[in-house]
Amino acid sequence: MPDTLSNSTVERFKIEVAACTRLLNNEGILGYSGHVSVRLPDRESLLIQSFDASRNDLSPEDLFIVDLDGNVLDGPSEGRPVNEVEIHSEVLRARDDVNAVLHYHPEIATLFTMTEGIELKPMKNHAYRWASGIPTHPESWHIDTKERGEAMTRTLGNHNAVMLRSHGAVIVSENIPALMVDAVHFDENAKAMYDSAQVGKPIPLSPEETAEFAANFKRDKHAVKLWRYFLSRGLETGAIPKEWGETLAPTERV
Ligand SMILES: [Zn+2]
Repeated sequence: MPDTLSNSTVERFKIEVAACTRLLNNEGILGYSGHVSVRLPDRESLLIQSFDASRNDLSPEDLFIVDLDGNVLDGPSEGRPVNEVEIHSEVLRARDDVNAVLHYHPEIATLFTMTEGIELKPMKNHAYRWASGIPTHPESWHIDTKERGEAMTRTLGNHNAVMLRSHGAVIVSENIPALMVDAVHFDENAKAMYDSAQVGKPIPLSPEETAEFAANFKRDKHAVKLWRYFLSRGLETGAIPKEWGETLAPTERV
């Protein structure tokens, strides 16, 4: 483990990543092979889960610390990090404002990478987060090399999400609770666009509408509220162990 990181700090982040993974799975969003990462306070390393650990009961012990070149610095004595760790490392290298990354394979949002004439756009007010656009990376293969990670990160640019053609999505946020909330809204928005296309021609939010919403929206308070809600559901269903509750109690820090 890097010398600059304390055990208690790393342990707290490990519990957050494991909890976010379990909560997103608990809500039917993450699925069997999505993954969540967080940048550690040394800014040069991140936490990412092992390749084959179950997303349903991921534990802090299943997480590796890797540097931005994907080298393992600490973690389980057996196994290896997920295949597409380059998604996380290259985004964190390029984007100083990002500390948490989700890659997953949402069914509905990915439909929009496989169709002509309709693109995923902000439909619901919380999708203001993606008002600058949701680009689609044109390559459908796994992002499992540095070069592919760099190319995908160029497609992401300064946006807050990128679709991977016929594959999935990458969402970027400032911390783990905010990432969880963004993932929930990203799925809601994709479903809204899909459903509205069944009824008529979708009318995305205008730049003026998203700007007005963003100007009046308290993102930190909203993230705390929803983190508390999903955490409570996770504790109730047993998806989250009770002993994690205190570490995960929401605080405003965005
Ligand atoms: Zn993938």
